[in-house]
Amino acid sequence: MPTFEPQSYYQNYVDGQFVDGGADRIVVDNPGTGAPLAEQASANAADIDAAVAAARRCHESGVLSAMRPVERGRMVRAIGDYLLANIDDIAQLLTLEAGKPLWESVVEIEGAARYFEYYGNQAETLEGRSIPLGKDYYDFTTYEPRGVSAQIIPWNYPLEMTARGMAAALATGNTVVIKSPELDPLTHLYIARAAEAAGFPPGAVNILCGVGSEAGAALSAHPDIDQVVFTGSVPTGVAIATAAAQNVVPCVLELGGKSAAIVCADADLDNLIDSVRWGIYFNAGQVCSAMSRLIVHESIAGEVRERIVALAESLSVGPGIDRPEFGANMGAMISKGQRDRAAGMVARAREAGADIATGGVAPDEAGFFLAPTVIAGVTRDMEIARSEVFGPVLSMLTYKEESEAIAIANDSDYGLVGGVFTRDIDGAMRVAQRIRTGQVFVNEWYAGGVETPFGGYKKSGYGREKGREALMNYVQTKNIGIRIG
Ligand code: NAP
Ligand code: MG
Repeated sequence: MPTFEPQSYYQNYVDGQFVDGGADRIVVDNPGTGAPLAEQASANAADIDAAVAAARRCHESGVLSAMRPVERGRMVRAIGDYLLANIDDIAQLLTLEAGKPLWESVVEIEGAARYFEYYGNQAETLEGRSIPLGKDYYDFTTYEPRGVSAQIIPWNYPLEMTARGMAAALATGNTVVIKSPELDPLTHLYIARAAEAAGFPPGAVNILCGVGSEAGAALSAHPDIDQVVFTGSVPTGVAIATAAAQNVVPCVLELGGKSAAIVCADADLDNLIDSVRWGIYFNAGQVCSAMSRLIVHESIAGEVRERIVALAESLSVGPGIDRPEFGANMGAMISKGQRDRAAGMVARAREAGADIATGGVAPDEAGFFLAPTVIAGVTRDMEIARSEVFGPVLSMLTYKEESEAIAIANDSDYGLVGGVFTRDIDGAMRVAQRIRTGQVFVNEWYAGGVETPFGGYKKSGYGREKGREALMNYVQTKNIGIRIG
C-alpha cells in the first residue's frame, strides 16, 4: 500500500537554498483523480536572474571545471545513487503528479539514475588529441566546459529528461539552471537534495519551476547562459532557438515526432505486439519517440489489427497509484487539456473517414484518462497521420511495395525515430538506410539505451542527446599550438 504523503508546498532551489518564487505558486494536480495535489513555487524573471548569477559564480570559481574528472564523475554517479536509495518515495510522488502507473515511475527513476551512472563514468574519458604540424610544433586540443547550461524540461519524463542533460553537463564541468515543468515539478526536490548529498557546491545545480512563457522564456533569452537544452513542442523550440540566436549561444532541440514502424509481411507478430505495447501505450503514449504510425503490409493488415485491438483492450486504465506492478495497465494523461486535445484529434480522424477500431473515448472517471486507441484505415493526408497526438493513439496505414512503405514513413515533417519489423535482414537494412530519422529500430521498438545517440532529422530538432555524442553539447574545443624554439 502507498505510504507516502506529499508535502503541501514545494520550493525552488537556487544557489544552494530552497526558496519561494517571485511569481507566487502553481497548483499541481493529480491526473489520476483530477484533484489538486500540492503547490509549487513559481519563478519569475528575477528568480531566473539570481539562479543564472549563482551558476555563473560557481562556474567562474573553477570548483567543478578544475576538478580531476574522475572526482566529478563520482559526484555525478552519487546523484543517481541517492535517487535509487529514495526510489519508493520518489516513485509515489511522481505517480501522484504525473499519472503514470507506479511501476512506470520506478522505470523512470531507474532510467534517471542510469544517466547519472553513465555520464559519471564518461567524465574521465573525454580526451583531446595531438595534431602533427611538423618538427617545429606541438599542437593539441582540449575540451573546456561551456559554462552555464540552461535546460528546459518537458512534463512527460520530468526526472529522466532532467537527468539526461544535467548528468552530461555536470560530468563535463558545467553548472546548470533547470526550468522544471509546471505540470509535474515536484519530484525535482529529490534531484536538488541528491545534488547536495553528492557534494555539489551552491550554484552548481539550480532548479526552478515556473510558467514557460515567463520563467522558461527568461531563461532561454538570458544573456549570461552559455548553452540551452530543450525538449518539447516545435513552436516552443523555435522560440527558444530564436532567443538563443540573439545571444549567439548553441542549443540542442528535441521536438517530438510522428514516428513510423514498417511491418513487413514476414514480421514476427508476437514480437511486434510486444513493441506496440511499449511503443504507443507506455506513459499513455506521451513519448516523443512513440510508435504513433504503423505501416503494415496489406496482406497481414487484418490479423495485425485484430491482435493490436486485443492488446489495447486488455490494458486496465486507471489511477497509477493503484497499478504498482508491471503488467497490462496504463495510467492517466498529464492534464485535461492534453487528454481533450488527443480525444479531439481522434474525433476528427473519424470525421475524415478513418475507422476507430477501439478506444478514442474518455472513460467516465474523474482523472485525465483516454482509452488505448487504435485507428485503422488512416491515409497519409489525414491530420491523425501527420500531427503528433502525444497520447495512446496508434494510426494504422497499409502498403503494397517496400518503396511505398518508405515513402509513407518519410512523408512527415518530423524525423525522430523509425522502425522496421521483418525477418529479412537485407530488407531491414534497405529500409534503415532510406528512413530519414535519427534512430532506426529493427525488430524491437526502443532497441538502444542511454548509450545510444538520440535526436531528430527535420522538425524533430537538431543535436544529439544520450551516448558519447551528447558530451560534445557541453564542451568547447580549444586548440593550443606550441612553437618549439
Ligand atoms: P511545450 O510548450 O513545448 O513545453 C515544454 C517546456 O517548455 C515546458 O517546460 C514549458 O513550460 C516550456 N515553455 C513553454 N513556453 C516556453 C517559452 N516561450 N519559452 C521557454 N520555455 C517555454 O509543450 P507542452 O505545452 O507541454 O505540450 C504541447 C505539445 O508539445 C504536446 O502535445 C506534444 O506534442 C509536445 N511535447 C513534446 C515533448 C517531447 O518529448 N518531444 C514533450 C512535451 C510536449 P510549462 O511548464 O509552463 O509548460
Ligand atoms: Mg505548456
